[in-house]
Amino acid sequence: MSTRPVRVRIAPSPTGDPHVGTAYQALFNAAFARRHGGKFVLRIEDTDRARSTPESERAILAALRWLGIAWDEGPDVGGPFAPYRQSERLAIYREHVERLLAEGHAYRCFCSRERLEQMRAEHRASKDFPGYDRRCRGLDPAEAARRANAGEPHVVRMKVPTDGHAVLSDLLRGEIRKDWASIDDQVILKTDGFPTYHLANVVDDHLMRISHVIRGEEWINSLPKHVRLYEMFGWEPPVFCHLPLLRNADRNRSKLSKRRNPTSIEYYRRAGFLPEALVNFLGLMGWSPADGEEKFTFEQMAREFELERVSLGGPVFDVEKLRWLNGRYLREDHDAKRLVDRLEEWALNRETLERIAPLAQPRLQTLADWGYLTAFFFADDVPFDPDAVTIKGLERDELLDLLQIVALRLDARREWTADGLDADFRRLAGATGLKLRDLTRPFYLVITGRPAATPLFQSMEILGPDLCRVRIRRALERLGPVSAKRRKAAEQRMLEIFGADAP
Ligand code: GLU
Repeated sequence: MSTRPVRVRIAPSPTGDPHVGTAYQALFNAAFARRHGGKFVLRIEDTDRARSTPESERAILAALRWLGIAWDEGPDVGGPFAPYRQSERLAIYREHVERLLAEGHAYRCFCSRERLEQMRAEHRASKDFPGYDRRCRGLDPAEAARRANAGEPHVVRMKVPTDGHAVLSDLLRGEIRKDWASIDDQVILKTDGFPTYHLANVVDDHLMRISHVIRGEEWINSLPKHVRLYEMFGWEPPVFCHLPLLRNADRNRSKLSKRRNPTSIEYYRRAGFLPEALVNFLGLMGWSPADGEEKFTFEQMAREFELERVSLGGPVFDVEKLRWLNGRYLREDHDAKRLVDRLEEWALNRETLERIAPLAQPRLQTLADWGYLTAFFFADDVPFDPDAVTIKGLERDELLDLLQIVALRLDARREWTADGLDADFRRLAGATGLKLRDLTRPFYLVITGRPAATPLFQSMEILGPDLCRVRIRRALERLGPVSAKRRKAAEQRMLEIFGADAP
């Protein structure tokens, strides 16, 4: 173990919904920091300009706050190594890239996208090493600098050894060897002047004095490049610890995916899970306390947390188990008064009722109609008869294609308003030649559980993206299965109808 003061971090990329995997890593980092009296840093890795959004960053921070996972330094609270958002640190990365160029550890690459694509296609055909062929590695650096100064578009790549192997060390796996021959001359600075993840991540971990990098297993293949960067800079690398990936509770224990399990933290909040139960559940992913009691608080976890004891046997994110644990919290830790408080915090409050009231009002004859009419707003799942989900003239497969297209479109949507949803459904109706009324009919059932209810798009706005998306996915599951081929085709069709960009 490193003798440096313990400083750990999570480094989420704000490119989507706040993911339970991020919370899991945050929890293990926070517990480790607490156990060792260290600091826990939150850094935003927003170097992917096309995919990063401020809404996603806000949502990630809000979700972690809701879970009660606190960080000592971050973009919102500041700290001694600010800024903590990579898009605000570009000059730092450029300076470091210059240094690697000057010392001969990196080179400018002018290969066009067309050339790279052609090369890849040829490699695919011949099953050769699929990486870059290093053509620009041989350019005279002075000549390359002159071309760059003249404004020729280029990237910067790090030089990776061409033979031998990297010897790496991971806290949970011990020594790992990787042949350099299988590793590419990684791009470290993109044409747009932004660094890639690899460079920015290493530079920041060093400058922010991170002692232990505790992150997801999906980064283990990048480790040789990272360690090589530390060597090139002459820096002491942190201790690396790659946590096992969360798995679906399916037969082949596939990597947790939103097609099989809701993965957005916001879904769990809206579906009535308690933050302390979700944190406890995530704490059981690869770790458990010595006494075997599965119900514990963050404080209890942090008291006896040993990173070395994390088990590598793919932790299963089993929602049924989470429900069971959540039930224990509701029963064991709440008297009636406290339970009512929790219901109020969740959704049974004046604010939510006032949003629903204008939709329900035209449909009420008595106050008591309220319960039946609005129950679906206060539910996770809604029951409906799968056979009733139909559109006149469409086969089951065609209907499933439509559900699939809507699911994908709603996944891509960033803004969640009745008007935006209305526009999407109108566009889909136009593209398929269906009447809007016929197209929306199955969605009433899937979203509200009833053939007619409060207006669909306004109801969906209030329900929020997470519950709506999950209800549509569940419907796909109940009505399905959808073959991989049809799923691909629906993806294609969605892009044709809506384009790649969703407001
Ligand atoms: N930005 C990376 C991610 O989103 C961070 C990976 C790491 O922790 O190094 O997962």
